[in-house]
Amino acid sequence: MIQFFNVTKVYKGDIYALKDITVKIDKGEFVFLVGPSGAGKTTFIRLLFREELPTKGQILVGGRSITRLRPKEIPFLRRNIGVVFQDFRLLPDRTVYENVAFALQVLEVPPKEIKARVEEVLARVGLSGRAHLFPHQLSGGEQQRTAIARAIVNKPRILVADEPTGNLDPVTSREIISLLVDINRLGTTVIIATHAWDIVNSLKKRVIALDKGCLVRDDREGVYGYEA
Ligand code: ADP
Ligand code: ADP
Repeated sequence: MIQFFNVTKVYKGDIYALKDITVKIDKGEFVFLVGPSGAGKTTFIRLLFREELPTKGQILVGGRSITRLRPKEIPFLRRNIGVVFQDFRLLPDRTVYENVAFALQVLEVPPKEIKARVEEVLARVGLSGRAHLFPHQLSGGEQQRTAIARAIVNKPRILVADEPTGNLDPVTSREIISLLVDINRLGTTVIIATHAWDIVNSLKKRVIALDKGCLVRDDREGVYGYEA
């Protein structure tokens, strides 16, 4: 589903964010991406949905090179990848319902179908009763559930999350990660960059560890490991 071949990313100022990364993630996998701040986790995720291009190397998603996409093909890639961020990135002047519906409106899905799909996805993330509230009326966990609903409403094959629990308390963090585990069980490939070591250690999922831009560990049933 996702393959990195010798991927290196150098930012302006000779900053090596990723160095010669080769890794394969299969369809349906659940992966934690860990490592200290500055390790390259965000860069890895930004490369995946083509927010950035690699300096060297090749990235395949669903068997297709995403480094060679033409500009008009990029929306098709993005449709296959849902993205969730630490800071939720909801539209503040729109309700929960509207935030999620917006993702389908831009794809010109018929209004009747939008209503059915938004209601279904809000039920799935446990927000049916909160649809008409605005983001500032929600808890952090509810805001992140809204963002997850928005990311999956289009049924992407891949869901990536960059520090999705970074702004949440420990109990809410666990709830959010178990929601992501549920989404994975239904077949979506899920990749999560996280510092939540206790959750990583308890779930025993695949762990890919980065440090200073290098892939330093890739374990089937991994643990968070130790930070220097
Ligand atoms: P992490 O998510 O693990 O904290 P990042 O991918 O954000 O790591 O950063 C990896 C390295 O690349 C860091 O040294 C960071 O300062 C640098 N970096 C990230 N984004 C940029 C950018 N847009 N321009 C220059 N340097 C960047
Ligand atoms: P996180 O630690 O949550 O991954 P960061 O604070 O590292 O987030 O990065 C936030 C944003 O700033 C990202 O868009 C990243 O690309 C950018 N960034 C990070 N480091 C640098 C840098 N040294 N120079 C320019 N932009 C950077």
